[in-house]
Amino acid sequence: MNTHGITIPEELLPRDGRFGCGPSKVPQDAVERLARLAPTTLGTSHRQDAVRGLVARVRAGMARYFDLPEGYEVALGNGGASLVWDAATFQLIEERSWHAVLGEFSSKFAGLVGATPWLEEPVRAESAFGDRPAISGVSGVDATCLTHCETSTGVEMDLQRPQDGEEGALVLVDATSAAGGLAFDPTQVDVYYFSPQKAFASDGGLWLALLSPAAIERIERLAAQRHTPAMLDLGSALANSRKEQTLNTPAVATLALLADQVEALEAAGGLTEVDAACRAKAGLITQWADARDWAAPFVADPAARSGVVTTIDLDERVPAATVSQVLRSHGVLDTEAYRKLGRNQLRIGTFPAVDHADVEALLAAIDHIAERLA
Ligand SMILES: *Cc1c(COP(=O)(O)O)cnc(C)c1O
Repeated sequence: MNTHGITIPEELLPRDGRFGCGPSKVPQDAVERLARLAPTTLGTSHRQDAVRGLVARVRAGMARYFDLPEGYEVALGNGGASLVWDAATFQLIEERSWHAVLGEFSSKFAGLVGATPWLEEPVRAESAFGDRPAISGVSGVDATCLTHCETSTGVEMDLQRPQDGEEGALVLVDATSAAGGLAFDPTQVDVYYFSPQKAFASDGGLWLALLSPAAIERIERLAAQRHTPAMLDLGSALANSRKEQTLNTPAVATLALLADQVEALEAAGGLTEVDAACRAKAGLITQWADARDWAAPFVADPAARSGVVTTIDLDERVPAATVSQVLRSHGVLDTEAYRKLGRNQLRIGTFPAVDHADVEALLAAIDHIAERLA
């Protein structure tokens, strides 16, 4: 029960009620495997084999899962994707960057670069939220900053090196919610960075970055030239990663869940199959919305719709905040829209760990609520 007096029948409820866009569902069987690993690993030295073995599994698992080309490396450290933004101002952006600005996360990164005194004012290519800018006009910059999935709006960008880019410019991709769920060609990117608590169904606290040889060259050169706070030093993070370590004590449970999940996704058929499964779940939601006169996909262009984050606008007769609240009172969690977007909207994560049948159940539950509200 809830303040609206709506009860959703048990048989309409998803088996697992976690639909958030990060943090997102952590599969219970992975938590059970973590519990079995705990006595030999949690609370043990991160300089010994148990924890270094987890780092090694994560790095090798990522290289296989993303089919990284020769010379690409996987770096990681503490701090989450937000830390990579700060680190990029020291060791990835040389003078001037270009930013696709299409939502809250991409705006935040561009804003932070704009406030950095040793960098030039960045170029911002903005689009209305719910759409995406074209990757053009990127001459005169040394870094092109893209967002694979703009988590605040549910827009996906195609990852391509710009046609008119400078020789040697790096492509930096915030893939925080996309990584693991959406396929892409790694030769088109230089730094593909993310956190483990979204598509990788782990917990927060770490950042990971897939680095091309050109990115490694840039990092090592700028690390030697610019004084960098130790926690933001990507050169040092890379050197530690090569030794299957992190600069300081890592989030060990996060590492263990991440190693488990990347191997589970490989066993599920690899990135191409996982991408297709995520898109099938997202497709259920958009088709469902298209078939109702009180719901519509927020992202108008089907080609720009993310396979892992779906945003649905509702008609004023069906207040989204009420729908989410009724769902929450039944243990169906985190369907609220991104707060600052300020729309009458639901946002649903269809990450790899979310079951197809649970998405179907969620939609039936929303219908049940809407029938009682409208
Ligand atoms: C969640 C998110 C972030 C921030 O990740 P943290 O791990 O909290 O630092 C950055 N960018 C995008 C696109 C995100 O979805």
